Amino acid sequence: MSPSSSSDGSTAHRRIYLSPPDTGELERDYVLRALESGWVAPVGPDLDDFERDLAAFTGWSGVAAVSSGTAALHLALLVSGVQPGDDVLVSTFTFAASANAVVHAGGTPVFVDSDRVTWNMDPNLLADVLDQRRRANRLPRALVVTNLYGQCADYDAIGGLCRELGVAVVEDAAEAVGSTSHGRSAGTLADIGVFSFNGNKVMTTSSGGAVLSPDPTVADRVRYLATQARQPVAHYEHTDVGFNYRMSNLLAALGRAQLERLPDMVRARRRSNDQYRAALGTTVDFMPLAPGQEWNGWLTCIVTPSADARDRVLSTLVAEDVEARPLWKPMHEQPVFAGRTAHVTGVSDDLFARGVCLPSGSRLTPNEVDRVSALVARALRG
Ligand SMILES: *Cc1c(COP(=O)(O)O)cnc(C)c1O
Repeated sequence: MSPSSSSDGSTAHRRIYLSPPDTGELERDYVLRALESGWVAPVGPDLDDFERDLAAFTGWSGVAAVSSGTAALHLALLVSGVQPGDDVLVSTFTFAASANAVVHAGGTPVFVDSDRVTWNMDPNLLADVLDQRRRANRLPRALVVTNLYGQCADYDAIGGLCRELGVAVVEDAAEAVGSTSHGRSAGTLADIGVFSFNGNKVMTTSSGGAVLSPDPTVADRVRYLATQARQPVAHYEHTDVGFNYRMSNLLAALGRAQLERLPDMVRARRRSNDQYRAALGTTVDFMPLAPGQEWNGWLTCIVTPSADARDRVLSTLVAEDVEARPLWKPMHEQPVFAGRTAHVTGVSDDLFARGVCLPSGSRLTPNEVDRVSALVARALRG
């Protein structure tokens, strides 16, 4: 549906969503074929093929497809050795699932702020935190580092600090499927990686996720835990507490189609981002893209001059039936994590106060980007 005239002569527009799923013929064909094959279970050829496709796409041979990005994070933490009572350093500027998964694993999230280079975990701040903790003999078991809005964190610096201390780094690449950093796929930049295929991400299986490892035996362990930790005997023998976290074969078929179309979907999102920058680049800041990043364009994020300006932009867009959001509210500001230890510099608080995510879906048209840009410009003029 495109803009159409209503009876009173005004121009009506379809609602513009932030990041809706983008599916069509190819997805229909893959899902129908899976349905007709009878593999309507969390096991089957599409599931195996989807894992192989993801391995080929990322370059890491150990891939386990699961029911959500949150489940993937939970299992990634468990196979990284996180145990009840362990401290885990977590990016504070992220979606709640990054920290929730630590709690699911019995760990204690300790939050670390971002820098302004990538908006991700600040390696200098991390160095200070690790140094303090090493001297106090309180090293964390692991880190969960988010690639915010699809941009990869500085894993050269972060990995360099953690490797010598024996601290595992979990890459929360939930938002970064299709991004690369210095030529390497997101999800393969730390010790273990996690993807999300939720409905609002760049590619979707409606709900789903994956754990990535360079070691196929780690992926085997994840699959084992994700299927109720069943021993390979007929009588359902269990020696571990497992989970029902495996991806459905039907959804894996959807994922195979989406992965084929991922490069096109990334191009479309980046084209919208370029158009937003051309229209608004003199009035607002955009999320900076650090050197070496090939970004998947997940969400176009702007930083307005003030918190008031942010509120004007959001209310103007909402009133015109355009879905927009503030940037993620930092975890150290969330009531559920009140009182947790947080190492904060003010960067994520400032970005949260002034930032807005603009509509960024891969079906967004140039006319729609123009329309949103004009509304943002109008709101900023006050
Ligand atoms: C979406 C998201 C998740 C969780 O993924 P689900 O598939 O929705 O469970 C985790 N971390 C980040 C940073 C996310 O954006």
